[in-house]
Amino acid sequence: MSAEQPVYRSVLLLGPPGSGKGTQGKVLSQMPGFVHVSSGDMFRNLDHQSDRGRLLLEYSTRGELVPDDVTIRLWRHHMERMAKSGQFDIKRDVLLLDGIPRSAHQAEMLADNVDMLLLLHLQASQEAMVERIHKRALQENRLDDINPDVVRRRFQEYEAATAPVLEFYPTDKIRTVDAGAAPLEVLRQIIEVLQVMLFPETLQHSIAV
Ligand code: AMP
Repeated sequence: MSAEQPVYRSVLLLGPPGSGKGTQGKVLSQMPGFVHVSSGDMFRNLDHQSDRGRLLLEYSTRGELVPDDVTIRLWRHHMERMAKSGQFDIKRDVLLLDGIPRSAHQAEMLADNVDMLLLLHLQASQEAMVERIHKRALQENRLDDINPDVVRRRFQEYEAATAPVLEFYPTDKIRTVDAGAAPLEVLRQIIEVLQVMLFPETLQHSIAV
């Protein structure tokens, strides 16, 4: 890893649209020592009146990925700002990365910044996720989830570009959870994996119920 780049200890949340990366990332970031960073939120929070914001919104509205160089540059700035403002402490905190890296090429570009501790693969079928996405579109007014053609395109994009991220990282750091289960059960599975993989010393015997 290069000396100039800050290196972030990271847990990657990887899964198709609707698999709960954002939901689980937000819940886990309530725990001290975890910070959730969603690249989708990063793009959605750009000023859409600006030329750049408008341009980037066009990609997500079409269900296409934003070009890698812009994405990685923006993400690096975003991380620097979070570190400067104290929202993220590079020595203490673990990043929960949601939506990035989105392709093997992005994973390569981030290799100098990301110390990948664990990849949580949220596995779910497209049919199960489509209904969730539809609900989310109505609740959050997400333009990219309202149009069925765009949703289909986002799944195709996931299969073609994002799923290969699984090949990029060593298998002993990848754990799969069943993202089709109820959100609380998915959270339970994730907590179990986090404990075993990152904090084995905190494991205790199960509570009898
Ligand atoms: P998400 O909220 O993760 O589903 O992302 C919403 C949209 O933002 C995607 O459909 C892309 O247009 C864009 N986006 C988010 N993350 C990335 C990324 N890592 N690379 C390229 N485009 C991204």
